[in-house]
Amino acid sequence: MGTSTPDVVLVPCADYTPALCRQAMEQAVAAVGGLDWIRPGMRIGIKANLVAMMKPETAATTHPELLKALVDMIKERGAEPVIGDSPGGLYTAVYVNRIYHATGMQSTGAELNGDYSTKEITLPGALAAKTATVTDWLHRCDGIINFCKLKSHGMMGLSAAAKNLFGTIPGTMKPEYHFRYPDPKDFANMLVDLDEYWKPRLHIVDAVVAMEGNGPTAGKPRAVGCILAGENPHKLDLLCARLIGLDPRDVPTLRAAMDRRLTPEALEDLTIEGPWERYVIPDFETIRERNGLQFQNLFKGKAGLAFSGFLNRSIAARPGVVKDECVGCKKCFQVCPAKAITMKNRRPVIDRKKCIRCFCCQEFCPKGAMKVKRPPLARLLVR
Ligand code: SF4
Ligand code: SF4
Repeated sequence: MGTSTPDVVLVPCADYTPALCRQAMEQAVAAVGGLDWIRPGMRIGIKANLVAMMKPETAATTHPELLKALVDMIKERGAEPVIGDSPGGLYTAVYVNRIYHATGMQSTGAELNGDYSTKEITLPGALAAKTATVTDWLHRCDGIINFCKLKSHGMMGLSAAAKNLFGTIPGTMKPEYHFRYPDPKDFANMLVDLDEYWKPRLHIVDAVVAMEGNGPTAGKPRAVGCILAGENPHKLDLLCARLIGLDPRDVPTLRAAMDRRLTPEALEDLTIEGPWERYVIPDFETIRERNGLQFQNLFKGKAGLAFSGFLNRSIAARPGVVKDECVGCKKCFQVCPAKAITMKNRRPVIDRKKCIRCFCCQEFCPKGAMKVKRPPLARLLVR
């Protein structure tokens, strides 16, 4: 395609009917350079979003019908597609096989990754993660395709292309990474480091039905009706943010990518193919960490810095339990990397001083009872 290849393509796909999925996938992939780089005998790793043991209709995971369309196209080139992910929880055959089953991965016809080894890596150009422990299966692939789901996200605002590579950190180690990078800026830089390390050949976003609200696992399905593709995850995410009404500066991975000049700040500086304006959903329910607010150096000196820090903490979104929806299962207590949760009368109590706002408790609550809440000062200042 040479110089005419767009940064991002958006292709309409009204639902998950097999023929529609195949047609949309062919069109999207062709627009961003095609699959000629795939040769017979190659092993192609497809990093899906299989965040939890949830059925496709919950919109938490990459839909199997779209994956099947891609898998068929790879097989037609004589290559071997393999689908994998490391969701939160155990990175073992027993646990991940149950996730494959719940998310419908058997129906894709691809090999499902069964290699649960991990590897220590160094990331020479990294800003945050100079070393990391990652799942090893993608190292044995000849090319990687990142196939994510469009969702709102408690900690990062947006879960789409850049965030999806966090699934290359073994599930059991994810809380440690949250603890190691408690500031969203550092966490985002770590994610961008991972994106730069794996360098997938292609990124695809399943936005046929997205997840809005209490994402990435307890939100509501919201029909968007399209898929997106591109070679640069951050440019893709820039368009994804616009589709769901998020200010790109409210998405830490986008801020980190802009600072590194991996994406322009303005959507107008991208070349986009497809009728994307028709797919903007103004009332898409999102979670904004600070609603665009950020206090910096209000006054000079240490006191000013401390006061700005206090204000920023006071407006930052935080987890909060809805007691009527909580069943007292202790999952939040178990996953909290900061040990900020104690159980009292079978309900979680959060120590705000210890909480690092990683939203693991919100992500893993099986009942959606842990929500992202805006504190009173944030509500006062914005809307
Ligand atoms: S209480 Fe929730 S958001 Fe806070 S540190 Fe624990 S898991 Fe993270
Ligand atoms: S994970 Fe959810 S349901 Fe379970 S104790 Fe925590 S808030 Fe309650």
